[in-house]
Amino acid sequence: MYVMHVAAVAWGPKEPLVIQEICVDPPQKMEVRVKILYSSICHTDLGAWTGVNEAERAFPRILGHEAVGVVESVGEGVKDVKEGDYVIPAFNGECGECRVCTKEESNLCERYKVDPMKRLMVSDGGTRFSTTTTKDGGSCQSQPIYHFLNTSTFTEYTVLDSACIVKIDPNAPLKQMSLLSCGVSTGVGAAWNTAKVKEGKTTAVFGLGSVGLAVAEGARARGASRIIGVDANASKFEKGKLMGVTDFVNPKDLTKPVHERIQELTGGGVDYSFECTGNVDVLREAFLSTHVGWGSTVLVGIYQTPRTLPLHPMELFDGRTITGSIFGGFKPKSQLPDFAKQCMKGVVKLEPFITNELPFEKINDAFQLLRDGKSLRCLLQISKFLKK
Ligand code: NAD
Ligand code: ZN
Ligand code: ZN
Repeated sequence: MYVMHVAAVAWGPKEPLVIQEICVDPPQKMEVRVKILYSSICHTDLGAWTGVNEAERAFPRILGHEAVGVVESVGEGVKDVKEGDYVIPAFNGECGECRVCTKEESNLCERYKVDPMKRLMVSDGGTRFSTTTTKDGGSCQSQPIYHFLNTSTFTEYTVLDSACIVKIDPNAPLKQMSLLSCGVSTGVGAAWNTAKVKEGKTTAVFGLGSVGLAVAEGARARGASRIIGVDANASKFEKGKLMGVTDFVNPKDLTKPVHERIQELTGGGVDYSFECTGNVDVLREAFLSTHVGWGSTVLVGIYQTPRTLPLHPMELFDGRTITGSIFGGFKPKSQLPDFAKQCMKGVVKLEPFITNELPFEKINDAFQLLRDGKSLRCLLQISKFLKK
């Protein structure tokens, strides 16, 4: 049977989300229907909502990809989760069988890797969400609502491919587990899995939102000697100190390019830099702030602009490298459970990332907090009836 529940629906670019009743169909083959308990908001949700990249626009749509929930029902063939299991959605899935999933080198599953254009379910090219007025006969006949980023979590119930779901320890702190669904895994993983930050090395992190601060936290946990935080919002430094940020550079305070300041601070440049703002000009600064010969830049931000890399090919002869990182390089199903255990042991701190909590119906206020740079992660309580 379908279920009728409340969701926050995006009807158009920058239009306030509408809290409304929707119809959620049952999970099809290899799909899972999940009751979302908590969801937080990531900058990637803001990007899709503002619709700057026209090709990615799809409305009406249910956004959201950072959450924790409980399995309500499973479709045919699903073996690894069952009703009542606590889970987190993974916007970058893992089928476990394709040419990529069977190799160690990459987490970009051929079937379920993140795709901002994707708006329909893989199994039948349909949606599991619809607006509803018709309740007869167990089916909904009304307007389809699009999915987002393999997940769609701003809803009491969502349907995901089972490849995009990770079972977690029921005793884990649920609110904090939501962070592993995107921001913290993305940032820490960029430091651990992509850059492979080593003890005693120097880093610069551009953009101190949750993702950038998670990079800092990951670098701190790996023993980086210096973590330079760069942000145009001065209030981010206080929080950054908790995650190991040792120096703060505000581009607004400088009369020279940021990379020159970082070169001065470090006597030649950092070993690793991370771009976590989604701005290509900042990406160039991040690239030039690393040391000639071995500097490594990891690109984490999502770039809405059609502009290409701001580098001349000859600049790569300086021995610097640049690489991208999706979901911190983690394979969700096979690697996140262990990462969650490490977080629970305190290797990575999670508490400081949740700066605000609001009820689901205040989701537009939560969007505004992130837009204004006043929150890291604002946690929304999505479902009313929680077991814990
Ligand atoms: P956020 O909005 O919380 O943080 C962004 C930070 O960058 C803010 O503190 C802001 O003040 C700062 N900033 C913006 N422009 C700047 C500039 N020109 N100079 C200096 N500082 C600037 O965002 P977030 O949720 O931390 O996400 C960060 C980025 O990572 C976004 O682009 C998001 O889409 C992307 N992201 C990527 C992945 C991935 O898998 N690669 C996953 C999640 C998020
Ligand atoms: Zn995200
Ligand atoms: Zn795969």
